[in-house]
Amino acid sequence: MKTLLETEFIAGMKLTDLNTARDIGANCLYVELGPFRLVMDCGMHPKKIGRQALPDFSLIPDGVLDFILVTHCHLDHLGALPVLFRRQPQALVLMSQASQALAARMLRNSCNVMKRQREELNIKEYPLFTMGEIELLEPKIMPMAYARSKHFSAPNGEEIEISFHMAGHVAGAAGIRLVYKHRKIFFTGDVQFSAQQTLEGAQFPDENFDTLVMETTRGATPRDEEFDREKELGHLVHAVGATISGGGSVLIPAFALGRMQEILAVLNTARKRGEIPECPVYASGLGMDLVDYFDTISRKTNAVQFRRNVLQELGVRSLRQNFKGGQPPGEAAIFVLGSGMLVENTPSYACAAALIEDSRSAICFVGYCDPDTPGGKLMAAAHGETFSFDALPYNARIRAKIQKFDLSGHADREALLDFALKCDPRAIVLTHGDPDSRDWFLDELAINGFGNTIDPVPGQWTLV
Ligand SMILES: [Zn+2]
Ligand SMILES: [Zn+2]
Repeated sequence: MKTLLETEFIAGMKLTDLNTARDIGANCLYVELGPFRLVMDCGMHPKKIGRQALPDFSLIPDGVLDFILVTHCHLDHLGALPVLFRRQPQALVLMSQASQALAARMLRNSCNVMKRQREELNIKEYPLFTMGEIELLEPKIMPMAYARSKHFSAPNGEEIEISFHMAGHVAGAAGIRLVYKHRKIFFTGDVQFSAQQTLEGAQFPDENFDTLVMETTRGATPRDEEFDREKELGHLVHAVGATISGGGSVLIPAFALGRMQEILAVLNTARKRGEIPECPVYASGLGMDLVDYFDTISRKTNAVQFRRNVLQELGVRSLRQNFKGGQPPGEAAIFVLGSGMLVENTPSYACAAALIEDSRSAICFVGYCDPDTPGGKLMAAAHGETFSFDALPYNARIRAKIQKFDLSGHADREALLDFALKCDPRAIVLTHGDPDSRDWFLDELAINGFGNTIDPVPGQWTLV
């Protein structure tokens, strides 16, 4: 007979954070659970360059993984998948149906961006993976319907049960539940409990978990009791309508995956209600391509509600014009362009330079901007201050209205804390947050009498 300690140890989960810092970076957890070896997410760090952007895969012996599970298709969760798969070609790759539809397209785009950066920034190790490797990977991805379990057996006969559960956040996002030896472990992935315009909120299982692994993105952002997402969208629509009526143009920098489609749907509804005057609407980049993917996903699954005819109804045109710093377009127009953070050498960056000196125009941010990106710097700058578009190069005083709308795809910290306490877990593991965000959860969980919160040290395994 096994002692209690041995039984505990066998059912224990050994967890190693392969992201190399306590931040939102190259999300990747290595999990050893009885005879099973798996990786949860496989991201590329958005602020690092070259191999530095990868998770530390050297901590996993080659050829040992049973599963690679991907919560969703943002590149900080998906971007390094072909690199890991090269070392672990025997692993089963599991993601939600919608993520499976999107993953290869996102990875091909990332490969193209790396090829461009190889030339522009002289990064010799780019691309970190090839189009050929994406082609090899694509047919190996096993789609998982939401809320349906699959059982897998190890050679010793032991079983693991895996299920994916809608996480809101972005089309295809999932929280992932593992059951091994009656032990339930839940990974939230990136989660939004409230509905978004084209997306329902998370539908997580209503049960207790032994271990909860949770994101902490908004841990340092207090909840605004007055906040209401519908109202915030109303403010955005009002700002767009007022700017166009006043003869100015509007730039909405938008992330390609999810946010651009949501904004187009919002503008379309507002236009139908007469809240935005007739004017040209331009969009560009990967986000326009993804419109077709979202349409297909919307028809086949409940992962997103979006139809391609939004483009026709709203009269969206592909962006063709070349912007010049300080030269706003002759005709008032709405531009919904990538990148969301106004990264250099993107359409939104060039468009911002064209509009910035025009006091009638507006730049409306609808997503998170890292403080080090041009978008983050522009949001922090004061009206009338000189702003440098170094990559053009072009300097100008900020005369356009710079506005920020809080349309986060992440749950606020209070909602996550409530969820965590409701799950009544034995242990909580914190991931996907900057140090001050994690610290808030550590403190609040302790205040609420919860004593077993683990903030993993990168690269060091913990037994949970
Ligand atoms: Zn995400
Ligand atoms: Zn993320």
